[in-house]
Amino acid sequence: MRKSRAIVLGLLAAALARSAGAQGPKPPDLDTATVVDLTHAFDDRTIYWPNSPSAFELKRLAYGPTPGGWFYSSNMFCTPEHGGTHLDAPIHFAKDGLTADRLPVRRLIAPAAVVDIRAKTSADPDYRLSLDDVRAWEKQHGAIAAGTIVLLETGWSTRWPDKRAYMGDDTPGDASHLHFPSYGKEAAEYLVRDRKVGALGVDTASIDYGASKDFIVHQIANGAGVPGFENVTSLDALPPTGAWVVALPMKIAGGSGGPLRIVALLP
Ligand SMILES: [Zn+2]
Repeated sequence: MRKSRAIVLGLLAAALARSAGAQGPKPPDLDTATVVDLTHAFDDRTIYWPNSPSAFELKRLAYGPTPGGWFYSSNMFCTPEHGGTHLDAPIHFAKDGLTADRLPVRRLIAPAAVVDIRAKTSADPDYRLSLDDVRAWEKQHGAIAAGTIVLLETGWSTRWPDKRAYMGDDTPGDASHLHFPSYGKEAAEYLVRDRKVGALGVDTASIDYGASKDFIVHQIANGAGVPGFENVTSLDALPPTGAWVVALPMKIAGGSGGPLRIVALLP
């Protein structure tokens, strides 16, 4: 009796899990999916925040034939967490938020909603995604399901790695004259609190626009446990819906973020 009840409960739980997972589009078949790399390579031109104490460093430790006759190559690298294509873990702007190593990887694999605002940003480098923009997108493509990874396409990645064009200013140590587009406060509140999205990604240096002084979108997203993906690229290869994102950061224990390899799977 107890056993059959356990089986019924198990079937019920499985059905509930399936219906929860059925909110977004089905994942593409890995056998046939097209994989798009949404990651900038890390090198000596990788863009960091103006006050970053250092940039990406790669030092060769070995390269060439060994006395034993085989080839051997090895490097060491050093990088601040927040530069290039990277993760903002919730703790970046929330004292008790999850660190990079504690973010459940399952949450970093999810359907994508790609919001293209290039028509607005081309005329205004300080443009912020508005609530009306999100509502218009949802009218056309459907409501954004919980857990979705939102990717905001501003067109700014075509400026990479020209620091001045990408950031709006390239004065070392000075972050007070930056200009690039990103999310707006009301859109972020709607996506995070009402739509309960899994992450906010953007093809600029920050989920807040360059001129931001209070980093309110970071506060809203990270404060709700929602991570950010910054300096992503190649969003023009993605459809508005239907792609899945796999965004796996380096597993830095206690990290506030870190280098991110992010790819999209297209059916
Ligand atoms: Zn960051």
